[in-house]
This record gives sequence, C-alpha cells and structure tokens, in this order.
Amino acid sequence: MNLCDISFVKRLMARYQTGTKKSFGQNFLINKEIPEAIAEASYSYHLTRATKKSLAVEIGPGIGCLTYELAGVYDKVIAIEIDKALLPILDETLSEFDNVEVINNDFLKMDLEEFFGRYAEEYNISVCANLPYYITTPIIMALLEKARGYLTSITVMVQKEVADRLCATTKKGDYGAITASIAYYGEAKRLFDVSPDNFLPAPKVTSSVVRIELYDKPKYSVKSEEMLFKAIQGAFSQRRKTLLNSLSSYFGNISKDKLLDVIVSLGFSESIRGEKLDIEDFCRLADKLGEIK
Ligand code: SAM
Repeated sequence: MNLCDISFVKRLMARYQTGTKKSFGQNFLINKEIPEAIAEASYSYHLTRATKKSLAVEIGPGIGCLTYELAGVYDKVIAIEIDKALLPILDETLSEFDNVEVINNDFLKMDLEEFFGRYAEEYNISVCANLPYYITTPIIMALLEKARGYLTSITVMVQKEVADRLCATTKKGDYGAITASIAYYGEAKRLFDVSPDNFLPAPKVTSSVVRIELYDKPKYSVKSEEMLFKAIQGAFSQRRKTLLNSLSSYFGNISKDKLLDVIVSLGFSESIRGEKLDIEDFCRLADKLGEIK
C-alpha cells in the first residue's frame, strides 16, 4: 500500500466521503520518500540516545503516511488526530500494525504533562510530525514548556519561514522568543526542505524539516526558569524597540531606571536590542531581574 500515491489518497477519501480540510491545516504528503526521510531522521537520532523501548508521538497523522513509516521502526506509535472523519481511514491504512494507537483529540487541549508522564518510565519518547501550519508555534512552545523533560527530540515539518526562526542565530533577523527558548532546552537542526508539489493540496510556501535535539539536563544555569521565559518574552514583546523599552513595557511594575541599571550592570549598551542576546545572556538577565526588590 502506498499511502502517498495521489490517486489512492483521492479514492480513499472519496470512499469515506471526506476531503482535505483547510481549517485543520490538512496538506497530505504525496511523495513516499518524504515520510520515509522524516521517520529516519527521527529514529536515527533516537538510537543515539536509546536506553529504553521507543515511543513516537505523532501530532496529526492525516491518512497515516508518516505513522506507517514510524510504526515500522519505533516499538510503539501514538498518533493524535483532531479530525474524527479520518479515524475510520486510519483504521484501514494502519491495520497491519499492532503497535499503533490513534487518539481523537485536539493536541493543544491535552494535559501534556500527564500524557507524556504516563509513558516516560517505560519508553524514550520522540515527537515526530508534519505539523498543521496554523498552530506550529503553539505546539512547539507547549511541547517545550510542558513535555521537554520527557522527550528525546522533536522532529517536525514546518513552513520554511518558521524553520528559519527555530534555527536562527543571534546575528539574524529571524531570531525571536521561540529561538531563544529552544536554545535553553536543546539544539534545533534544519535537515532538508520540501517543495509544495509534494503535498495535496499544495501549500503556497516551501516547508522544512527541523529536528530539535533536547538536552538531558539544561546546559545553562538560571535561578528561575519562570523568570527566564518572562525575560525572553519581555525582550521580544516590542521587536522594533530597544531591550530597555521592550522590557519596560512588558514589566510594567519595574521602573525604567532599575531596568537600565540591570542592562548596564550586565555590560550591555543602553541601546542594545533583544535579538543581540544569546541564551547565556538571557540567563544572566533573568537572574538580575529576579534580584530587583
Ligand atoms: N501526517 C499527515 C501527512 O504528513 O500527510 C498529515 C499532516 S497535515 C499537515 C496536519 C494534520 O494535523 C491533519 O491530519 C490535521 O487534521 C491534524 N491536526 C490539525 N490540528 C490538530 C490538532 N489541534 N490536534 C491534532 N491534530 C491536528
């Protein structure tokens, strides 16, 4: 069965009287080499860190082309799909596997700590997905904030522009709050680009596959992670402004003079912008902000 054959996909969906839904960000892969390469990218990294059985959690299996590849290598796959209409299709396309569980849910409404925590003792867990583009950033942020302690890596296909931001360095304009947050938890690597003609329907933009390799333990020390993420949010809350003005409008309860003292005490100029700070700078900034009385 080739779940990426375009006429097979169209016939299958017609038989189940459904079609691709824009509202759920449904762009299905129609070139088998792509889900094969994504699953390989996820599993090959998993192997470098494996200490237990392997579990892949997929967000949005669609009709199951990536799930199919993951099920061939991982011990267990749990796929979470929001669209009820796809469930009977997945029953059919994944019928040869007894290691796949499909859950009908909105991933963003799940209690992720409870969900991933349930499997963490038995499995090394990796997330792998061709993400629905309308909620890419909220999904990645939710994984980092709620589930990173349970995860080995997050391998995702996203829009190229989002990949630019995930993998940016401080010297580039794409660097933002999500880049700095990822840098605290791990390292994002851009693996390959995928052109629009590999999808049904074809999106307007090119996509990229990114693997976020998560550290076992945080590499940087900071007194309060909560303050670190406030500092990052604050620094990028007004992108065009200086760090001082951006922090000042974010932390309304801290005077501008005190914020300026912090910035200068860290050795930065008054006019520095948030995108010039790397993750170590943000850790130092957070520790200083935490000391303000
Ligand atoms: N994995 C398939 C593929 O590569 O062909 C489908 C990928 S498609 C870009 C995104 C999938 O995510 C769709 O199946 C869509 O229904 C599902 N989806 C969208 N929003 C979701 C959500 N909040 N929770 C779970 N699944 C979601």
